[in-house]
Amino acid sequence: MLQKLGDSLKDSLNKLKTSLFIDDSIINDIVRDIQRALLQSDANVKLVLDLSTKIKQRAKEPVTGISKRDYLIKVVYEELTTFLGEDTHKIEVNKKPTTIMLIGLFGSGKTTTTAKLAKFYKKRGHKVAVVETDTWRPAAYDQLLQTSSQIGVDFYGDKAEKDPTQIYLKFEDKLKDYDIVIVDTAGRDRLSDELVEELTQLNHAVNADHRILVLSGDIGQGAEKQAQMFHDTAGVTGIILTKMEGTAKGGGALSACHVTGANVLYLGTGEKLEDLEEYHPKRFVGRLLGMGDLETLLERAQEAMSEEKAEDMQKRFQKGNFDLNDLYEQMNALKSMGSLGKIMEMIPGMGSLKLPKEALDVQEEKLKKWKYAIDSMTPYERSNPDCFNSNRVDRVAMGSGLSIREIRDLLKQYKQSKKMMKMFNGEQDVNKLMQKMKGKRGF
Ligand code: GDP
Ligand code: MG
Repeated sequence: MLQKLGDSLKDSLNKLKTSLFIDDSIINDIVRDIQRALLQSDANVKLVLDLSTKIKQRAKEPVTGISKRDYLIKVVYEELTTFLGEDTHKIEVNKKPTTIMLIGLFGSGKTTTTAKLAKFYKKRGHKVAVVETDTWRPAAYDQLLQTSSQIGVDFYGDKAEKDPTQIYLKFEDKLKDYDIVIVDTAGRDRLSDELVEELTQLNHAVNADHRILVLSGDIGQGAEKQAQMFHDTAGVTGIILTKMEGTAKGGGALSACHVTGANVLYLGTGEKLEDLEEYHPKRFVGRLLGMGDLETLLERAQEAMSEEKAEDMQKRFQKGNFDLNDLYEQMNALKSMGSLGKIMEMIPGMGSLKLPKEALDVQEEKLKKWKYAIDSMTPYERSNPDCFNSNRVDRVAMGSGLSIREIRDLLKQYKQSKKMMKMFNGEQDVNKLMQKMKGKRGF
C-alpha cells in the first residue's frame, strides 16, 4: 500500500539516519526528497510546499534532551502525520438511526463499500439496513441486493422507481428501526449538473449524519477538484479511499482531505467484503516510512533517561566508579522503555529484523531477576560490590527469592561490565582496543 511513496520517503529518512552531520544542506536534501516523493504520488503542490516550509522552520529550532538527528526524524514524522491527518476518526453510532450516505463518481467503489460498511457494523452488533438509490445503473440494485443478503442485512430498493429521492422517502419510516442506515447513491463519469441536482435533492431528503465521499486511491490530481465539487454539493464529512491495496499513488486522494477538511475514515484494500480497514494515520505514516512507532519510542526514551542523567553516567564510567547502582539505573532505564522486544520493534530499521523470541525472553527474565536482587541489597553493598562474601550472597538470595547461583551470576556480570568499562577508558588506541576485545569474545 502506497509502497512507492513509502520507499522514497524511507530513502530520504535513511539519509538522515546515516549522515554524519546534520546541517542545512542535509535538511534541504531531505525536504527535496520528501517533496519529490509526495508530488510523484500526486499530492497537491501547495500543500507539499507548506509542509516543506514547516519542516525547515522547525528544523531551525534549538533542541534539548534529544539529538538533533532524532529531533529531525521526529519533526519529519510529525509533519507527515499532520499532512495525512492527525487522529483516527470513526463514525460514531450514537443516534438511532445513524445515517450514512456514500457519494462519488462511477467506479469509485460506493456500492462495494456500502456492503463492506454494512458487514463491518453488523459484526459489531448493530442492526444495519442498506438502501439502493442508484437508478442510473440498474446493475447496482442487483449488486447490493446480492451482497447484502450474503452478509445478512436488510436491503431496501425499488427497481421500478426512477427518482432516487422517492425511493428513500418510501422507506424512511421503516428505516427508523435500524441502528445504522447506509444509503448508496448513483455516480456519473464526471460530476455533471444532473448529478449535482440529483444529489442536492437526495441529500436534502436523507439529511444524513455522515456524507462520505468515496474516492479511488489511484485518482491523481483530479481528486482535489472533484472533492471540492462534491463538498459544495453535499458537505462532505468523511472520506473513504478505495483500491488502496496495490497503488503507488494515494497522494491525490489525500489532497482531497485538505480541500474538504474531512478526514479519511476507512481504506478499502480489496474487492472482498472484509477488505476494509479503519484508517490510523499515525500507524499509516509509520508503516509508510518503515519506522515503527517512532514517536512513542522517542517519548519513552526521553522519559527513561534524560540527557543529563546519561551524561552523568558516562562520566562515572570514565572515572571507573561504576557500581551496582549504575547497573541498576541502566536496567531501570531499559525497563521503563518497555520490553526489549517492543523496543526493537520501535527502533527504525529494527522492526523487520526479528530477534529470536526466546533470546529476548531469556534476557528479559534475567533483567527482572537482577532487579529483584539489587533491590534486596543494602546501599553499602550496591556501591561496594566487591564486599560480597558468601554470607551476603546468601542473605540477598533469601531476600530476593533467587538462587545463590543467580546472585553470583549477577556479580559476575557486574565484574565483566566493569572490566569492559576500564578497557574502553584506558585505551585510546582503537586498534589496540580491538585486539584486546578479540581476546574477550566471550563477553
Ligand atoms: P461504484 O460505481 O462507485 O458503486 O463502484 P463499485 O462499488 O461498483 O466498484 C467498482 C469496481 O471497483 C468493482 O469492480 C469493485 O470490485 C472494485 N472495488 C471497489 N472497492 C475496491 C477496493 O478497495 N479494492 C479493489 N481492488 N477493488 C475495489
Ligand atoms: Mg454503484
